[in-house]
Amino acid sequence: MAFLLNRRSLLRRAAALAFLPVLPKTLRAAIPENAPARRVRPGDPSWPSEASWAKLNEEVGGRLIKVQSPLSACREAPDAAACGDLFKELKNPYYIGDNVALTQTAGWVDAWESQPSVYAVAAETTGDIVAAVNFARENNLRLVVKGGGHSYLGRSNAPDSLLIWTRRMNAISLHDDFTPQGCAARQPPQPAVTVGPGAIWMHTYNEVTTKGGRYVQGGGCGTVGVAGLVQAGGFGSFSKNFGTAAAGLLEAEIVTADSETRIANPCTNPDLFWGLKGGGGGSLGVVTRLTLKTHELPSFFGAVSATIHAFSDAAFRRLIGQLIDFYADNLFNPHWGEIVTLRLGNRLEIRMVFQGLDQQQAGTVWQPFFDWVNGSPQDFTYQLTPRIITAPARNLWDPVFLKKHFPSGVLSDDRPGAPSDNIFWSGNLAEVGHFLSGFQSLWLPASLLQSDRRSALADALFAAARHWSVELHLQKGLAGGSDEAVFATKDTAMNPAVLDAFALAIVAGEEPPAFPGLPSHAPDLDADRRQAGQIGKAMSELKNVAPGAGSYFAESDFFELQWQNSYWGPNYPRLLSIKKKYDPAGLFFVHHGVGSEEWSADGFTRVSAR
Ligand SMILES: Cc1cc2nc3c(=O)[nH]c(=O)nc-3n(C[C@H](O)[C@H](O)[C@H](O)COP(=O)(O)OP(=O)(O)OC[C@H]3O[C@@H](n4cnc5c(N)ncnc54)[C@H](O)[C@@H]3O)c2cc1C
Repeated sequence: MAFLLNRRSLLRRAAALAFLPVLPKTLRAAIPENAPARRVRPGDPSWPSEASWAKLNEEVGGRLIKVQSPLSACREAPDAAACGDLFKELKNPYYIGDNVALTQTAGWVDAWESQPSVYAVAAETTGDIVAAVNFARENNLRLVVKGGGHSYLGRSNAPDSLLIWTRRMNAISLHDDFTPQGCAARQPPQPAVTVGPGAIWMHTYNEVTTKGGRYVQGGGCGTVGVAGLVQAGGFGSFSKNFGTAAAGLLEAEIVTADSETRIANPCTNPDLFWGLKGGGGGSLGVVTRLTLKTHELPSFFGAVSATIHAFSDAAFRRLIGQLIDFYADNLFNPHWGEIVTLRLGNRLEIRMVFQGLDQQQAGTVWQPFFDWVNGSPQDFTYQLTPRIITAPARNLWDPVFLKKHFPSGVLSDDRPGAPSDNIFWSGNLAEVGHFLSGFQSLWLPASLLQSDRRSALADALFAAARHWSVELHLQKGLAGGSDEAVFATKDTAMNPAVLDAFALAIVAGEEPPAFPGLPSHAPDLDADRRQAGQIGKAMSELKNVAPGAGSYFAESDFFELQWQNSYWGPNYPRLLSIKKKYDPAGLFFVHHGVGSEEWSADGFTRVSAR
């Protein structure tokens, strides 16, 4: 990841470092004497020799790759057909995911640009990962780990680095009776799924739900990696009922900085296990296997969609107020999730999903809201008329069913010979290969749904939507969730604010795939900066009603202030102590990951004193 450090980011970094003094002194002093102060880059005298790389290649069975970016073709001939073809492929998430040099997000204005590593180990075994970790530690290299490659914040790429790429380790197997190692006396066996660190959710759901008739809690976007999402915390459409993905983790295998392969579960290395649940990927080691709980599958999944246009500002404000009342009184429970967006131009987009209800029940719930809208034709019109659909739950991620019955909802990997189950939601298309102008998020506390606060919330949302579109991700936030979901999520490293939040508000902007400096395909940085300004203004309106509310590690501002507190709140000191125990020299570094305050923004130079 190439950092574009400007004054703004330096100031923000300084503000983030200001958080450090509240950490226990023992943690700040725990850097070993022999820990390197600076990592090695190509061209440095101690960069490994060709012979050393050749030896690593032998150790990993020939799976060391000298990384070439497909963008080099565009740098040489930006207007050639080959470059045009590449940019078409950059709208296929499977193409990006299968390319060692690429990431789903191309970059972020004034923050980072996607940059390939010098070498990558395309790992196929835990042994490959052990060898790569050894090599990076012994040669003092900047190490990066990439699974699904869906980090908005550029955490799975870095120039001048060695990459451990787990894409090929994507096996998925179901268990009827899984017991974590060493837990036989404490936990009864339960149904579960074990996945490799390169598995993505769409394939995992296909195995667990379509073929296995069970449910596993993962993410919404099908091409996100399982390992990255679980370590971030991880929310999917039905998290209000089933909890976070992290809460469903039963066991992980992980290679730590000392190259030991460790089991982490409630009975073996429980501290590491807790840290992996929402402590943020790429910081504690390389996860080589994960086992997640599976649940009984509900009978139906369903969706409600509508887009309402308000003819005036006053009508839009009333609509927002009505929506909040309706949500708080009818939808604030384990059945409902997904997104409501307040768009610029006074449009309200409803794209919600439900489980545990049938179509008629869902229709009965929504009827009063749509009756209210229908009652004021002078104020509102539908740009998308309300629609409620259901499908047997077993078919939600079934490629054959979706292509037949819901063809507009899914897109396919269109490369010749691509597996037929390589599908993705068309709703995620805009994000494929995108270049970000900004991305900010905020946990909205459920206290805002109390009757005396609803009006302030509606005012803030209305004011925010004067500046930029605001998405309310109602499945991200456990308030209103099932007791089981809340209980399991409590025992993770995430900021406990997530337990009290009814939604995660996201305000973001993007443009299609673009790379700074690439002729004919460069982003419009001025326009991006203007958008970033609008995004900041919109978020300020929300922060006024939810001061200090915190943000989601995986979906948040690259320039997040006091990110330790924002992502982990009171859990940060405990998480940092775990980092110090398993990675005292800081081999694993990601932007705003645990312990990263000790390093320069690019992760190459230690900035904290021993
Ligand atoms: C289009 C899109 C949609 C998204 N939708 C959702 C959503 O619905 N719900 C949600 O909660 N989040 C969502 N996210 C955020 C996503 O969960 C996180 O960015 C997640 O970390 C991505 O994981 P990955 O493996 O795909 O990405 P990567 O970029 O490969 O990895 C992300 C981080 O995890 C680390 N990592 C990856 N694999 C390993 C491993 N095996 N061991 C140790 N560290 C590892 C990487 O080093 C990096 O720091 C979305 C992101 C995108 C881009």
